[in-house]
Amino acid sequence: MERPRNWSRPDRRQGCSTISFQKIFSRYGVEAMNNMESSNGPDSLVPVIPSHGRQFVCQACGATQNMGRRKYCSRACRQRLVWRLEVASNLLRALHTRYATFSFTPDTLIFHVVASGSPHVYSYLWRRTPGRKPADDLGALVEQLGRQWWREHERRRSRHQASKTVLEQAHTAVVSPGQVRPLDSASPKVSGKHLSILKLSKAEILGTDAREAVKSAYRRQVMTHHPDHNGDAALFRKVHEAYEEMKEWLENPVIRNQRGLPDKWSYDGRKWAPPMNSPTPRKI
Ligand SMILES: [Zn+2]
Repeated sequence: MERPRNWSRPDRRQGCSTISFQKIFSRYGVEAMNNMESSNGPDSLVPVIPSHGRQFVCQACGATQNMGRRKYCSRACRQRLVWRLEVASNLLRALHTRYATFSFTPDTLIFHVVASGSPHVYSYLWRRTPGRKPADDLGALVEQLGRQWWREHERRRSRHQASKTVLEQAHTAVVSPGQVRPLDSASPKVSGKHLSILKLSKAEILGTDAREAVKSAYRRQVMTHHPDHNGDAALFRKVHEAYEEMKEWLENPVIRNQRGLPDKWSYDGRKWAPPMNSPTPRKI
């Protein structure tokens, strides 16, 4: 295997030292681990990635200010994380990774890895540096693990041993493999505004009786908003427009297949996918 670039190059701008990952972990990671163990389990470490109710959170850095309805605070912020995740893919390939996830809280990076042929989920929990983007903390974590992989590889002349050493630095039994495996889902390419006007869910219009679901949703909204029933004429027009749009979509439904996980960046052995907000299982 060609030595991937950007693994072992010291990143002086970030002040990474050459101390081992284990030392780094014990300095920065133990507190996060204690938090996990003393609370209600890993699920209580709620990632900041999802949108909390109506508040939109940058999926790359967790920012909430001036987000409007956007998924990222800026294009540069998204690209910075995507680049770091791509660099992490080099390490993941060396570890024979089947699946992986990346998420973060205000204090901790959470990086789970499922290696081929292993029943364990290897979890790296990394205390975040205050004021630094998760992308750059991820860069530092991957840097340390990458260095360790190459050091071990040069020392023992064995890729297997190098990977084993890196995996041994992780915690196991923090989450189950099912929480790391990306899900396949189908998402209708249809205006969310129309769905919300008709109070329809994506699952309903992907179901086998979608036509009936759209019709009855329309009837319900007509009953509420028809001007003859003291409804609002403008809203009634919007209901009618939404219905016409939905009928058109049903004639030629466009469905986007996605692979991913809610609230986490996920890796399927080939590439990273951004967090999915509310996946609809493909089989419904
Ligand atoms: Zn951001």
